[in-house]
Amino acid sequence: MIKANDPKLKSWVDVPKNSDFPIQNLPFGIFKTQYLEAGAGVAIGEYILDLTYLHENGFLFGLDLPSGIFNQQYLNDFIGLGKKKTRAVRERLSELLDINNGELQNDKANSELALIPMDEAEMLMPVKVQNYTDFYSSIEHATNVGTMFRDPENALFPNWKHLPVGYHGRASSIIPTGVDIYRPKGQTKAPDADQPSFGPTKRLDFELETAFITCKENELGEPIPIGKAEDHIFGIVLFNDWSARDIQVWEYVPLGPFLAKNFASSISPWIVTLDALEPFRVAGPKQEPKVFPYLETKGNKNFDVNLEVSLQPEGGEENVICKSNFKYMYWNINQQLAHHTVNGCNIQVGDMYGSGTISGPTPDSYGSMLELAWKGTKPIKLSDGSERKFIEDGDTVIMRGYGEKDGVRIGFGEVKTKVLPTK
Ligand code: CA
Repeated sequence: MIKANDPKLKSWVDVPKNSDFPIQNLPFGIFKTQYLEAGAGVAIGEYILDLTYLHENGFLFGLDLPSGIFNQQYLNDFIGLGKKKTRAVRERLSELLDINNGELQNDKANSELALIPMDEAEMLMPVKVQNYTDFYSSIEHATNVGTMFRDPENALFPNWKHLPVGYHGRASSIIPTGVDIYRPKGQTKAPDADQPSFGPTKRLDFELETAFITCKENELGEPIPIGKAEDHIFGIVLFNDWSARDIQVWEYVPLGPFLAKNFASSISPWIVTLDALEPFRVAGPKQEPKVFPYLETKGNKNFDVNLEVSLQPEGGEENVICKSNFKYMYWNINQQLAHHTVNGCNIQVGDMYGSGTISGPTPDSYGSMLELAWKGTKPIKLSDGSERKFIEDGDTVIMRGYGEKDGVRIGFGEVKTKVLPTK
């Protein structure tokens, strides 16, 4: 058992009920304030624990950390120290925040400077994303899309249950929560039109996903065995993989998604460690037919994390439009990483791997507007009386996620993005 996960732990820092960030979470992020340059922090209640400050003032003594490791714009170097080291840092931070430990608690001068109120900070990208891959691993999502666009009888392609389907996306346009996006323009062709047309997308959509971030490379030519996959995974964020459905339909044959996907993907700013998610492990769906040995996993490799999407029209209130769960994933993160590298592909520290849209079995658990409004045939009614088939200008999309067990709630915070009119 990881000591920092003990449900009995309590912090001397105030943690409001239903906070995503109790002492058992301690997710890592990059923040800046009016006075402080970008640097690493850990979330606790409504505060950020400034890791640069703690390190420079001797509170992390004995962990043998490189100087300046937290005083950086990204966490890549820190997570690249490997899970043994980053786990030791999380354990030490847990000690320092424990109500039974006086080191920082009773040192008012230092604790006041080390704790930054979240509302005084701006959250930035936690890592410099080196490479971005997106999977397509929810069987409910793949079945819904196949049913809509192809054949309900053969909704899944023949390969789908044999391998975790994925494609290489665009790393440069991954942005943190709070960064607005512009409605993208592109080519589309209506089914009944003779010729394509050009203009703003009429079918802007979100995709409810999670993404894992890697912290350890493999050599080019050396696959990562499935039993070692989690040594390479630091943690997970919420991921909104923005999509332009009308552009996608026209462009994707034969090489797959391109401009329909690469204009923006938004993430939550706190990386929740795999360690913190340990209590939420559950078995995944039964895989039939049996997978190849390189994809076989033992034990619980899925995570019971509630996921939710809200839509907030300009000047209006939030409407929850989807409730799903990370546990529905057919292919787990170990299988995704083992498959990604089985051909010898080398991964890097700071890569991001999207799960694919996570839809559940019921219509209110579908993870995209495409599915929720069923290709525009069942518009969603909002509390202000308006309807949505897809996302409109001025709409804000908010995703949240958390696991809850033994009275402990481990949350991801939120990824919140407003859509602006086309530029
Ligand atoms: Ca996606």
